[in-house]
Amino acid sequence: MTEETLVRVERRGPVAVLVLDNPPVNAMGAAVRLALKGELDAAMADPAVDAVVLTGAGRHFSAGADIREFGAPPKDGPTLVGIIDRIEAMPKPVVAAIHGTATGGALELALACAHRIAAEDAEMGLPEVTLGFVPGAGGTQRLPRLVGVPRALDLILTGRRVTGAEGQATGLVDETAPAAQLLDAAVALAVQVSASPIRRTCDLPIPAFAADVFTRAEADLAKSARGRVAPGAALDCVRRATALPFAEGLKEERAAFLALVRGPESTALRHVFFAEREAGRVLGLREASLPPVIRKVGIVGFGTMGAGIAISFAAAGYPVAVVDETPEAIDRGMARVRATFEEARQKGRISEAECAARIARVTGGADYSAFADADLVVEAAFEEMDIKHAVFAKLDAACRSDAILATNTSSLDVNVIAAATKNPERVIGLHFFSPANIMKLVEVVRPQQVAPEILAACLEVVKRIGKIGVVVGVCDGFVGNRMLFAYRRQADFLLEEGALPQQVDRALREFGMAMGPFQTGDLAGLDISWRIRKRLAATRPKEIRYSPIADRLCEMGRLGQKTGAGWYRYEKGSRTPVPDPEVDALVKSMSAELGFARRDISDTEIVERCMGALVNEGALILEEGLAARPSDIDVIWVHGYGFPRHRGGPMHWADHAGLTGLLDTVEAMHVSQGPLVRPAALLRRLALEGGHFGGPGGSAGAQTKS
Ligand code: NAD
Repeated sequence: MTEETLVRVERRGPVAVLVLDNPPVNAMGAAVRLALKGELDAAMADPAVDAVVLTGAGRHFSAGADIREFGAPPKDGPTLVGIIDRIEAMPKPVVAAIHGTATGGALELALACAHRIAAEDAEMGLPEVTLGFVPGAGGTQRLPRLVGVPRALDLILTGRRVTGAEGQATGLVDETAPAAQLLDAAVALAVQVSASPIRRTCDLPIPAFAADVFTRAEADLAKSARGRVAPGAALDCVRRATALPFAEGLKEERAAFLALVRGPESTALRHVFFAEREAGRVLGLREASLPPVIRKVGIVGFGTMGAGIAISFAAAGYPVAVVDETPEAIDRGMARVRATFEEARQKGRISEAECAARIARVTGGADYSAFADADLVVEAAFEEMDIKHAVFAKLDAACRSDAILATNTSSLDVNVIAAATKNPERVIGLHFFSPANIMKLVEVVRPQQVAPEILAACLEVVKRIGKIGVVVGVCDGFVGNRMLFAYRRQADFLLEEGALPQQVDRALREFGMAMGPFQTGDLAGLDISWRIRKRLAATRPKEIRYSPIADRLCEMGRLGQKTGAGWYRYEKGSRTPVPDPEVDALVKSMSAELGFARRDISDTEIVERCMGALVNEGALILEEGLAARPSDIDVIWVHGYGFPRHRGGPMHWADHAGLTGLLDTVEAMHVSQGPLVRPAALLRRLALEGGHFGGPGGSAGAQTKS
């Protein structure tokens, strides 16, 4: 594509309309910047042009800078900052006409224009901190001048988007117009302002603000951005905007941007950004025959998961029929559906009409004939193979022969479930996470016989309900829980050797995990895994190390939050874990019983062992071909298990922490714990060759140093 076509020019009388035209989102990469600079210069030099309107072709103004350029060596040619300076200094006014989205650098560009006019439903925001850096083209300096310090902090520190209407109410844009009339209105505004002195954002005073606005924002960040660097740096930039002359503030902002953009936080956040986009891509699927379209959904089981899954589909517009065995379960499930949507309405997130429509989409009953016209049925009944077989036999009889049959099992073999049906090619696993209406992750479990178009249809529907689907193979626990078992096991062993639950949880929270493993156990309920352990007890080899502390807790009736006590105790009505001397005493006495001489365990050892076991299991999973790429594992752990996004997921984190040290930890655990920690050949190879698991696009850790 030539430079000229990247920025089209249309003349409307004395107004030059410059149209960014770089599909799909008019990203402002190097070539677009060069073209834009050329057209701005031409408009400046043309005596017949009195004013400029800047807009975007297609559905969006622009999504801003090209994220792939961040962290890469700088490109030749004009920088975005240079163009923005040029726009603000122009003796002819520039009006930004914003429709669709204007985010990041695109909004920064618009902020430097003399005027902004937006479509009512346009969306504008500065998402830079969510990618680990600060707006680097004047956003932190210009935004407070237009909307005031509190609003600027809100937008910059959260990355939240505002609509054209909200933008007009807050001073972000001067006018709004219906999308269809946006360009005409922008040209009229440009003509109108071309006779007046130009209003330059950089010259505007910052509106007065409360003295404690920064300290309050800092206090909020201490909670919401634990372990993060970029939000605090962005806050400092806004503070400087209030204290320094504009040009100096701009220089400081640029320095902060450059310092952060190649740093570990930004590298990790950009890794996750691309990993999420890559996750749904499966080799060879595009060539598959056309996937069936899902219009109506059935669900078996109206319990915890069934209700959450029903809510997710109904919220996205799908009619959902739920079947459960008991009228009580149906009543309870329907009540939860209603309560969830009512709450969203009360909080102003959805209108009354939308709330009613969503509730009306869900029907509950006992009769499988409700599935006669369903395109997809998700089974979420009890976790027993016999029950799954019985349910799938009924689905075989009740559903159309081409309907997709999915199971939400978290631990049973999907191949075995599929094999018992008439048509295993249409059976798949859709492993939602709890609470299913909130958690974004779905492991799309691919049994041996499933047809590619069924897999493609499921990936599509998962995306349509606003979730992230990651394809995984069939194994015990699939990818996420299998890794969780390895990680959890180290946490349990650390208790036996000298740590206490609160210390393990704190160390891992300080690492950045949303919760520690023992807190998480209490939240989920300790009885589920207890039941599984009891079932496996008879076949567990006696020579393999096994930690019985959790079993003992459960025997004491401490099943977690629901019984007011688990690894911690809980005050009535509270979810705050309180360390319990009774648990400390139990842990210590069990160490003695098991023959361990308790020792001081450092937080570093806790993190190294838990993370070492986690990453090693991830490497085994890659070796076995159960995940397509390391970055898929990162997506699973960021979205399903509270792994800190700003550390990029376990495999990305391991690449940066150093695979050699990690291998040493894993080998040492292997020596002391035997086959429970089996060092992955892939990890060994990469560590020895100086390689790394690699980013999205890399296949199963094949990347070694060239
Ligand atoms: P639950 O006990 O809350 O709900 C199960 C529901 O299924 C009950 O309402 C029960 O009446 C109904 N049911 C049982 N047998 C049935 C049958 N033959 N026909 C129709 N309805 C039947 O269980 P849950 O936590 O929602 O788990 C459901 C499934 O989801 C299980 O396979 C579980 O392993 C899996 N899962 C659970 C979680 C979780 O955190 N709870 C997470 C992921 C996956």
